[in-house]
This record gives sequence, C-alpha cells and structure tokens, in this order.
Amino acid sequence: MSLEQFHIIESTLREGEQFVGANFTTDDKLKIADALSEFGVEYIELTSPAASPQSFEDCKTIARRGLKSKVLTHVRCHIDDAKIALDTGAQGIDLVIGTSSYLRQFSHGMAMSQVIDRAVEVLAWLRAQAPNLELRFSTEDSFRSEESDLFRVYLAVDQVGVDRFGIADTVGIATPTRVYQLVSGLRRLVKAGIEFHGHNDSGCAIANAFTALEAGATHIDTSILGIGERNGIAPLGGFIARMYAHNRDLVKKKYKLRKLRKLDEMIANLVGIGIPFNNYITGVTAFTHKAGIHAKAILNQPETYEILNPKDFGLTRYISIAHKLTGWNAIKDRAEQLGLTLSDEQLKEITAHVKAMADQKQLDINDVDELLHRWADGMEAAGDQAAK
Ligand SMILES: [Zn+2]
Repeated sequence: MSLEQFHIIESTLREGEQFVGANFTTDDKLKIADALSEFGVEYIELTSPAASPQSFEDCKTIARRGLKSKVLTHVRCHIDDAKIALDTGAQGIDLVIGTSSYLRQFSHGMAMSQVIDRAVEVLAWLRAQAPNLELRFSTEDSFRSEESDLFRVYLAVDQVGVDRFGIADTVGIATPTRVYQLVSGLRRLVKAGIEFHGHNDSGCAIANAFTALEAGATHIDTSILGIGERNGIAPLGGFIARMYAHNRDLVKKKYKLRKLRKLDEMIANLVGIGIPFNNYITGVTAFTHKAGIHAKAILNQPETYEILNPKDFGLTRYISIAHKLTGWNAIKDRAEQLGLTLSDEQLKEITAHVKAMADQKQLDINDVDELLHRWADGMEAAGDQAAK
C-alpha cells in the first residue's frame, strides 16, 4: 500500500523561498539542505535555476553535494527552463504548467490543446537527453481545472513516459473528499507515482495530503513550518505528526525525529518568525497538560491523552505547575521546554517565588514563564517584584 510507502518531497528550498520573509543565502541553503538530508526526507526540491544566476549556481552546488536525499529542481514546463534545469545536474526535474481557466486566461494564455502539446514536447525532449532523469509533470491549480482537461493532459503525458504526476492544490481550495476523488481517478489510469502539493489557505493541507496517500498518491510536498506563498503548504512537522499517528514504527524508522525541533527553530530564525504556540510537535503547548483529571491520568499512563510520545521527538511533556503545590523538578522541566538555561539553585529560588506568588493570587502558566524568562535574562535582581 502506498500509504506505507510514502515519500516526502521537502520544498522549503522552493515553495519556502516563496515565503514573504525568506531570502536564503547560499550558506543558508546548504545548511537547510544538509539538515533535511540528515532528518531523512527522500527528496529536496529547489527553486528554479532559471530564477536568477545565483539560483542556478546554488542548484548546481546542492545537486553535487552528495546528500542522502535526492535533489530535484522545479521549473516551468518550457524548453528553455528545461535546458537550464538539465545543466544543474539535479537528479530530477519537476515540471509545472497551469491548467485552470484562471491561469490559462490570466497567466500563460494557452488553450488546453497548446498545454498538452507543450507538455509532450518538453517531456519528450528531456527524456531523450537524459533517459534516467526522474521526471515529474504537475498541473498547477488542479482543483479549479476541468477534470476532463486534467485527464487529457495526464494521458498524453503518460504516453511519453513520466516518473510522477503532480496534483497541486495551488490555492488551498481542495477538501479531502475532492482530493480523494481526483487522486483515485488518476490512480486508476496511470502506473507512475502521484505527488500531492497542497496549500493551507483553508486549513486542509495536512488532511488533504493524508487523504491523497489513502487514494493512492506516493509523494507528498512539505516545507518546514509550512512556509510558502501566502500561509504556505503542509508543514513538515504536521505531516510527520499525522503519519506518526498512523504508523509510529514506520515513521520512527524513516526519519530522525529528534532533529525536527532544530529544523523548525532554524527556519523560524532564518525567516524572522516565531514557532506558533500550537505548532505540531514543536509548539510550546504541544505536550502541555493542565486539567487535574488529565494530569493525573497522564502521570499514570501518558497515552491516555497523548497520541504522540514527546520522547520520540527528544521533547518532554509538561504538566501544569502554576500553583503553590508545585516542585522545583517540575519548574525545571518547564524551563527546559522553553529552551532556557538555569542552574538548579536558580530553579529552586524561582520555585520559592512561584509558591509565594500563588499565596497572593491565582497564577497561570504565563506568570511562571515570565519569571523563568526574567531569571534567564539575568534580571533576577528584580526578582523581588515577583512576590508582589
Ligand atoms: Zn505551492
């Protein structure tokens, strides 16, 4: 079943470069590519080498870096772009062309018959140049394209021979039911791989990706923290969480899950954003339990309220501590969860402050976090204010 044989096409260095805050230098790109390869993604997709001279050079450098992940580059379905892509030495080329009436009318201006001719021409040329190159053909804005148009172009392309078809929900309009229909329809017609690329404008990106696999897709596009055009695509961490919930052993075997937090932090720093509090796996509240009934059960058996084991990701769970019965070991856990470095002595003093504060007023986790941050920032001299 393809659901167990899925591949990740990690597109932080292509879709992610289209995020408003992203402007990766060559060094950044190498760092990201190395980290993704270490994490274990099967493919890394790079920005079109036709975008700029530096994009071309970076593509060549990364393609020849000897990464464990296969390196793909993503270009428009045009002979000029295909030539440039071939010169980069990438192991695969992802071709894309718009098929919705919006894109045909307002972007490239071609009729469907011209789209089909173009696709066949470019793929046949590439196939002749490099018989072993991994080729993908994708229809942009697939879910606002006529299904009959899509299948006409897919069948024409299938005659030429392609390794993978791409179905792209470019605008985030698809729902799982629609994805299931389209992917399973294509699955019945072709033997090649099927890749799904889904945007998250209406919050369905991860569910759509998972449903695509259920319908027979083989490859899923992700980016770290989901960065991309607008609010981005299926996030790597969120997709990993979904697949882990489906088949824990498989996901643990395929990927170095403990490296996920570093990946998220690296991208957050590079593009100047914070990791959202409710982010999959690495959000600060992802493994936080508060209600007494939850806390009690969690202490007895974590799986009562957790489908993801934080330990598998090198993380720890957190149980509410903002009260007078707290202990310094629990406070220490919280400091670690926040990534703060504090000595045991400091933590014991902070715990005493928390207890004193709780005698005065109702506390919440923000009070404890604020105190921890103040101490970590070296402002413990002002610590007496905490007792106010
Ligand atoms: Zn996209």
